[in-house]
Amino acid sequence: MKKPMIALTPLVDRERHSFWMLPGYMDGIREAGGIPVMLPLDEDPATAARLAEVCDGFLFTGGDDVEPARYGAQTDPHTSCYSARDRMEEALWQAVLPRRKPVLGICRGIQLMNVLLGGTLYQDLETQYPSPVCHHQQPPYDRPVHSVRLLHGTPLQELLGDDQLRVNSYHHQAIHSLAPDLLPMAVSEDGLIEGVYHRRYPFLWGVQWHPEYSCHTDPVSRKMFRAFVAAAM
Ligand code: MN
Repeated sequence: MKKPMIALTPLVDRERHSFWMLPGYMDGIREAGGIPVMLPLDEDPATAARLAEVCDGFLFTGGDDVEPARYGAQTDPHTSCYSARDRMEEALWQAVLPRRKPVLGICRGIQLMNVLLGGTLYQDLETQYPSPVCHHQQPPYDRPVHSVRLLHGTPLQELLGDDQLRVNSYHHQAIHSLAPDLLPMAVSEDGLIEGVYHRRYPFLWGVQWHPEYSCHTDPVSRKMFRAFVAAAM
């Protein structure tokens, strides 16, 4: 069978004027049988359309915060965004969705998909959602620090056959109001929606935790990458 080509949205290091990639995103996809390809930071709709046509699956990676104006909010002092990436990913999103190709969002990725589908975000959990649960862990990042409850009958719960999952956590924002087309599939101990999927789309999943940091040590992270890549075959 032909190996699916999985597009990764680029990580941006503005201080070094660089694009970069965490090896875990690529390793997770390669281990699952896909070919990871990092995309350019290009917001041209013609580029997005061509990429959406050529690639088989789309991984929206972690990174800067989504611009709050996109969900009708003022920018909080704790929010740090980079609108060029928002624009590039929105163009890609618009091109991919009509083609019904598999989409996975991780960290910023789940937040972005919620915003693009009409939901809102907590801009800073520490100040807006105080909780004893640690969402912003110290390294090593492959270490689980909190649990999520997997909702019955959701794709992730069915994939894993379990109702509970221990996850790593490295985020300061999270979903506030859920977009109408998304359904929750994982909820943290303190009630945050940390996993979602689309009501009607063939494969559109988002997770707030980081399987790319734990794909070498955690079989569940590898299962998630495999489900995504298999959907793109
Ligand atoms: Mn968390």
